Amino acid sequence: VNVLFRPIDKIIGVIESYPKGIAGFKRFTELIDTEPDIVDRPGARKVAGLRGDIVFDHVQFGYSDDRPTLRDISLDIRAGETVALVGPSGAGKTTICSLLPRFYEIASGAIRIDGIDIRDMTQDSLRDQIGIVQQDVFMFGTSIRDNIAYGRLGASDAEIMDAARKAQFDAVIDQMPAGLDTLVGERGAKLSGGQKQRLAIARIFLKNPPILILDEATSALDTATEMHIQRALSELSKGRTTLVIAHRLATIRNADRIVVVDDGRIVEQGTHEGLLAAGGAYARLHNAQFGAWAAE
Ligand code: ATP
Repeated sequence: VNVLFRPIDKIIGVIESYPKGIAGFKRFTELIDTEPDIVDRPGARKVAGLRGDIVFDHVQFGYSDDRPTLRDISLDIRAGETVALVGPSGAGKTTICSLLPRFYEIASGAIRIDGIDIRDMTQDSLRDQIGIVQQDVFMFGTSIRDNIAYGRLGASDAEIMDAARKAQFDAVIDQMPAGLDTLVGERGAKLSGGQKQRLAIARIFLKNPPILILDEATSALDTATEMHIQRALSELSKGRTTLVIAHRLATIRNADRIVVVDDGRIVEQGTHEGLLAAGGAYARLHNAQFGAWAAE
């Protein structure tokens, strides 16, 4: 039971530092350019325009050989469905998400998108089908235009502004001294955290992938910024299969399905109401949260 108290800190939004969680966010970005081990199979095919049906079929995975990190993960996600992953820190939520773009090779089992084993896809084409939103936003020290267009090179200004509008970022651009030509500074130093997040969301609107991985921010933003980002994300996830590492109760409640992960296994899954009625791990999390509120 006690282990379940860990994530409650996150769900109720207590502001703390989460060193491991932040390392998790970094992992995504760094791996995109640095993971050398995984090579395309001979005959791997280029995929495009996938629907986004995702199957984890008895997946086992460990970062090292001595200890499994994920044990027998099976998940069947319909195209367009939003699945919230919840569970204690270190349970394996980030790892599950990292396997989908094939940042790591699984030990056994299979991951399939639209029935195709991801090992039979070229990595580039697989990753083109997936958008990742995380706290750490990779930024070039160039213009806002270039940074958004990174989502789809060659996009027109009209397309860039359309993506910015959907990401609730257009008003920010309009207020900038040079609009789209405004330089963001080294690593985007001239933009706030919330602005960088929305820029990242605009990138994904341009890229328009059928699958979304959302690593929900744990750090606090001001209420107005938070609201803009939540709106932009809910717009972004419409019609896309979305896997969200969820830290906010609103996100969890709004998900089509909640998957509770603990110690590398899926221990429970269902809807918010269904899981509450079942009175298991999720219900304990949730009830403990109301307890925390009542105690305040
Ligand atoms: P959090 O909510 O804190 O982000 P999580 O549920 O996302 O946790 P993971 O980040 O997937 O958990 O970690 C699962 C386990 O794998 C943990 O024991 C963690 O220490 C370990 N782990 C994660 N990334 C690596 C890595 N790159 N190398 C080795 N071990 C790792």
